Amino acid sequence: MSNRIRLGTCSVEEFLNEYRSIKDSARFTVCEHSLKGNSLRYKAFNKSLYCAKCEIGISFFAFEKEEKDTHCHANAYGYDKDRNEILFTIDHIIPKSRGGGNHPLNLQTMCYTCNAEKADTLDENLFNFKLKKSDLNLIYNLLTKRIKEPEHSEEYKKKIRNIIKKFDKFR
Ligand SMILES: [Zn+2]
Repeated sequence: MSNRIRLGTCSVEEFLNEYRSIKDSARFTVCEHSLKGNSLRYKAFNKSLYCAKCEIGISFFAFEKEEKDTHCHANAYGYDKDRNEILFTIDHIIPKSRGGGNHPLNLQTMCYTCNAEKADTLDENLFNFKLKKSDLNLIYNLLTKRIKEPEHSEEYKKKIRNIIKKFDKFR
């Protein structure tokens, strides 16, 4: 699964101040970490710091990389009601398969819990979200956990199992 290494964190203000100062998707630097300026996620987070579904907010940014990567990127995190860190992702409001593109107006901020729930109701569209591999892994973990929770009906678990089967193609 995900081997995410955290190199440091910064406040939302620190991150957005630097991001908003760049021109034409140039690289930019926050706390000595060089970041890609053309990230769709940063575009969405710059527009809204809140999950479009549950409305929890981004609390900080973390500079993270996968074990194999040389460069890090910034991930946005908030906290759920139990004070667990929750990763923020982007959602294509109109799925790409239905004509929605990467235009900033079609991108919205969504926490990964809500993205996973959306997966349940809109499962054929899940893979239009263009999530990074590490984000897909997080959603996969969450869905796997759901199957083990006794409060869900067999019908619901069957749906989740079908979604998990699709994940295997993409991870
Ligand atoms: Zn949410």
